[in-house]
Amino acid sequence: MKKNIKVTQSSMPPFEEYCAEIQSLWDSRWLTNMGEKHRQLEAALGQYLGAAHIKLFTNGHLALETALAAFGFPADSEVITTPFTFASTTQAIVRAGLIPVFCDVEPETWTLDPQKLEPLITGKTVAVLPVHVYGNFCDVDGIKQVAGRHKLKVIYDAAHTFGANYYGSSAATFGDAAMFSFHATKVFHTIEGGAVCFSDEALAEPLECLKNFGQDSSGDCPYIGGNAKMSEFQAAMGLCSLRHLGGELVKRKVVAERYQELLGGVEGIRFMKLRPGTTPNYAYFPILFDGVRFNRDEVCERLKDRGIMARKYFYPLTSCFTCYQKLFPAGAERTPVAAGVAENVLTLPLYAGLPADEVDEICRIILK
Ligand SMILES: *Cc1c(COP(=O)(O)O)cnc(C)c1O
Repeated sequence: MKKNIKVTQSSMPPFEEYCAEIQSLWDSRWLTNMGEKHRQLEAALGQYLGAAHIKLFTNGHLALETALAAFGFPADSEVITTPFTFASTTQAIVRAGLIPVFCDVEPETWTLDPQKLEPLITGKTVAVLPVHVYGNFCDVDGIKQVAGRHKLKVIYDAAHTFGANYYGSSAATFGDAAMFSFHATKVFHTIEGGAVCFSDEALAEPLECLKNFGQDSSGDCPYIGGNAKMSEFQAAMGLCSLRHLGGELVKRKVVAERYQELLGGVEGIRFMKLRPGTTPNYAYFPILFDGVRFNRDEVCERLKDRGIMARKYFYPLTSCFTCYQKLFPAGAERTPVAAGVAENVLTLPLYAGLPADEVDEICRIILK
């Protein structure tokens, strides 16, 4: 029998809980533009993440794009980043008028390799934009050292990292800024949503103006901005989701550990290595095939035959996207380690409440 198992499934609070949360909006008629729910969620998330400063956005992508704009880098400045990520990371750089320069990743953690940073730095480099990919922390100390030596800003794509910690600290506490995504498919969500956490208070004003058409409170526009505000309905979903986060993480852990048990030690299959000090959030379960005993594309097809939608995530590398080919040097050959991972990685279904017997079945199909 054909199943219908997607790679992820959104968590929902009880219907009544969400209804109770939005009830007051029928009295206030304040539906967006930094209302009561927005204020509450911003405060709650700032506290949960231990962020020095936080601003909420309508999605993670615009949070990242706006953060890049808020730093006020000159046009065509270079930003060193990883191509082993979701499209959003690289698109945000390019849409902010900056040029991505692709750095390779570490072979075990699949995060940006600080050892390979220095040769890529030029007189036009202004920032490093690494990704805590699948919720695994980058070498934050190594990156900080190189960036510090060259006076570069560090802006993390922490979209995958909500609920994870590095030696007890959240991803909001590393770098000059960190973007979180609260998309429906993430561990914690506001349907669509995102945030920028940042260390320098001076970024607060440009971020606040930029997400609201560039306007300040006088009605003048000191910045060229768009619209990236989070609505009250999104914020209300966030307030509900946050109450259930603990249970969500426990249920995800159960699924991840079953995969580890069934696929661990199998010749030809490797797991991503978590950086020591990382408390994971079980956001994803990627596995890497050796391309000899197992062929990634073939395994993916066999799972699909049974209605199980694993994802070639992340493939292709963002540096291989058609839209960039004429703009700047790109292509897989510049980052051979990342290219090898992208060719052989498969992200398995993982969500709270994925039944154990389904996990067993997925592993049986893979091993066959
Ligand atoms: C989800 C995601 C984003 C974009 O977030 P949205 O909230 O969907 O706009 C950016 N980067 C990475 C790595 C992501 O996984």
